[in-house]
Amino acid sequence: MSERASGGPRFIFITGGVASSLGKGLASAALGAVLQARGFSVRIRKFDPYLNVDPGTMSPYQHGEVYVTDDGAETDLDLGHYERYTDIVARRSDSVSTGQIYSEVLRRERAGEYLGATVQVIPHVTDLIKEYMARDLGDEDFVLVEIGGTVGDIESLPFLEAIRQMRLERGPERTMFCHLTLVPYIPSAGELKTKPTQHSVRELQNLGIQADILLCRCDREIPADARRKMALFCNIRQERVIPALDVDTTYATPLTYHAAGFDDQVLSFFGMESLEPDLAKWREIAERVRAPEGNVRIAVVGKYTVLPDAYKSLIEALAHGGIANQVKVELEWIASEEVEDGTAAETLAGVAGILVPGGFGERGSEGKIAAARYARLQKVPYFGICFGMQMAVVEAARGLLGLDGASSSEFGPCEDPVVGLLTEWTHGNKVEQRKANGDMGGTMRLGAYEAVLAEGSLVADVYGGRRNIQERHRHRYEVNMAYRRRLEAAGLRFSGVSPDGQLPEIVELVDHPWYIGVQFHPELKSRPMDPHPLFTEFVAAAVKQSRLV
Ligand code: GLN
Repeated sequence: MSERASGGPRFIFITGGVASSLGKGLASAALGAVLQARGFSVRIRKFDPYLNVDPGTMSPYQHGEVYVTDDGAETDLDLGHYERYTDIVARRSDSVSTGQIYSEVLRRERAGEYLGATVQVIPHVTDLIKEYMARDLGDEDFVLVEIGGTVGDIESLPFLEAIRQMRLERGPERTMFCHLTLVPYIPSAGELKTKPTQHSVRELQNLGIQADILLCRCDREIPADARRKMALFCNIRQERVIPALDVDTTYATPLTYHAAGFDDQVLSFFGMESLEPDLAKWREIAERVRAPEGNVRIAVVGKYTVLPDAYKSLIEALAHGGIANQVKVELEWIASEEVEDGTAAETLAGVAGILVPGGFGERGSEGKIAAARYARLQKVPYFGICFGMQMAVVEAARGLLGLDGASSSEFGPCEDPVVGLLTEWTHGNKVEQRKANGDMGGTMRLGAYEAVLAEGSLVADVYGGRRNIQERHRHRYEVNMAYRRRLEAAGLRFSGVSPDGQLPEIVELVDHPWYIGVQFHPELKSRPMDPHPLFTEFVAAAVKQSRLV
């Protein structure tokens, strides 16, 4: 069903106030999911105020995970939420930063496209923001646009000005402002406080934006009088002050939002009607998460282990693997540097599976190699993702071939570069190139690439007998094909390669219950309703292993 009348899609702008990290991305994703469940088509996009062109060059400490799209864009991790909740494949055009806007404005200025005008934030920057918000759309009923940052930040002003203009140009029939705030509980007063919300709504009003709906994050029920007060002071109808209470599993948010009337109010705002949403699949997922039949302990040996946002999709994908196996996956975060001094066996004793995720740089790499060695020798299920595959190959070259000088040229010159820089490869029927000393931003193998799986391999089994797969990449280095023959003879099978046979995509140990390294990031394509087979099968192998120990 398409509710779209003439006049284009309905834009829902989602802003945040009071504090960051309130879960605006999740709120946008969950609203998208509920609207879909009512039969509408949606698209969700993120506009980020920072000056970086994309988050690809930002440290995970600063920005969390970099989410890669099929079309090879390095984007904000919120796009991962959008994909997981709506299953709509995100595109490059769904992730925009101030850096991109300014680069394009400056390009147009140099090209003389402004015809002698003085180039200014208003109208040139704001016009481009509006253009980007509305470009590359199909016939979506709703476009949800999340504005990054918090209202009041200097950086987000041009975005807020642009959405103010969108309201003026497209009218309330086509635009809605949804503002997410925090309603804190002050224990000493024994009260919920509405003042921060009032202030942040006023901040928006100062910019000419009147919020239409308030979404109030709170750790407990919000009593009717507090909602009445916020409605009155914020100039919003009381039924549009929606409580967004903490949930035990994030996959319950589509259910709790609906129960709180969020989607009903969105539709009533636009004067639209629809049947009740079909939320059965969300109910089922929430129930499965709440009632696992057992637990399984999996160690993640990485660098940013204190910062879960750095591994957002990975954590989700492991949880999906748990859902598929009806178990709760308990993660043990192990800083790779801490297992470099021969303590891997001690630290990893008793875990049912070991996962080494993607990573960059030499620091901690010996710990990852030690973890891969432990998994190989002790026959513990091992799953190496990107860097985790590369380190497994280094380990195999040292341990199985006796090449003590084996390493990755990412860390500098070495005797046996079993992982090295590839400067040319094919993508479809195009040749792509990169330079050893090229820019850091955007010189990686990025986005969806095909791989062909070897018949009779473990990984072909994992993928249910499929021979051709497509997965997302983000890396600069590749396993060196020059070592393939020797490694295969020693038991490390190259069970997945690019269609032209040039790039190794998957390796697996033949004499091992479950030892797989993949050059891509399968976690980016895992969904709660459709867990990625590599995670389902890795968790299944870990469950089997935990019955052994
Ligand atoms: N640092 C490695 C490379 O650039 C691996 C990257 C990754 O794990 N995403 O190839």
